[in-house]
Amino acid sequence: MITTQNSKMNLLGLNRAAMQNFFTELGEKSYRAEQALKWIHFHGVNDIHAMTNFSKTLREKISSIAEIRPPEIAFESTAPDGTHKWVIKLSDGNCVETVYIPEKTRGTLCVSSQVGCILNCDFCSTGKQGFSRNLESAEIIGQVWIAVRSLSENNGMHDHAVTNVVMMGMGEPLLNFDNVVNSMNIMLDDFCYGLSKRRVTLSTAGLVPAMNQLREISDVALAVSLHAPNDELRNVLVPINKKYPLKELMQTCKEYFKDQPRRYVTMEYVMLAGINDQPEHAKQLIALLKDVPAKVNLIPFNPFPNTIYRRSDQDTIDHFRNMLMAAHINCITRKTRGQEIDAACGQLVGQVKDRTRRIERLQKKSARATTEKI
Ligand code: SAH
Repeated sequence: MITTQNSKMNLLGLNRAAMQNFFTELGEKSYRAEQALKWIHFHGVNDIHAMTNFSKTLREKISSIAEIRPPEIAFESTAPDGTHKWVIKLSDGNCVETVYIPEKTRGTLCVSSQVGCILNCDFCSTGKQGFSRNLESAEIIGQVWIAVRSLSENNGMHDHAVTNVVMMGMGEPLLNFDNVVNSMNIMLDDFCYGLSKRRVTLSTAGLVPAMNQLREISDVALAVSLHAPNDELRNVLVPINKKYPLKELMQTCKEYFKDQPRRYVTMEYVMLAGINDQPEHAKQLIALLKDVPAKVNLIPFNPFPNTIYRRSDQDTIDHFRNMLMAAHINCITRKTRGQEIDAACGQLVGQVKDRTRRIERLQKKSARATTEKI
């Protein structure tokens, strides 16, 4: 059979069950799957012939139908604070971004799940790029593969610097449910990256039915992009709120870790000057989170071109945080990292072939507004 390179199966995106299936269909024992996963993810191999505990005949058999095809690195840069950003080029020319944030005791990798985003949150630059498509499993786990491999050049793959993964890059992970869950399973698998469930976090804008579904099948940590303490404001900042309002969202959060008393939902709250950062908002937030096992991450807003929003000043952020803490809500202010290389929260734009024509519509709208003013 003649196969072009890209019609070969990509082993990079297979979880343990799928890999076992692959080997069983080849007439091989299923423990081969564990060996293959270890080669690919633990040793960072992308050449089937490097799998030296497989016979040459087996390697040739695998190579004739499959390959390990990671996405490409189009560009990378490091900020003065050590934050590293990769622009990852996909086979169709779209690009997504992945960010590594080193800290004293951990290293967090921020991974993208979609090319662009359809949710269009008003303060997020990814949303302004429009949407192209969901990432495949190999493209999601491929970001981890690339990061771990390049960060371990000196340390060896198994002693790598990625201790945490957050699905907080471009896109809404719950709108690419199967591929995201599959990729997170590979992150957790001991034959792959062996991360603990508390160190892999999915962040969502609040898609209630998908959150309930996730709870049934995955044990990873959960973050919710809350950003507003009442529906009126949240409808503007996070428009998906019109579909799943705060009452429903909070009910789901309340029950999310019901059987696990020491686990909390992380509430992300971007601090926008004069919009959601006033004492009255803090009071509403305290009331909203009553009975919800939650901790709050305040995120200083990261500006991007043409945004109408501004970052709250430090005193306002501190005051807001003190009010929450006085009400016994666990609250931290997230440090802004990697801003110099546009790698901070909400600054990831990649290169999106926008199929929603959002940019075009936005341009028309602003042209109309200008004409009306004239
Ligand atoms: N769609 C998912 C994953 C994105 S996570 C979600 O909404 O949770 C990225 C986090 O950064 C979210 O909490 C998002 O709301 C926040 N964010 C977006 N734009 C931002 C900006 N300009 N400044 C600071 N945080 C921002």
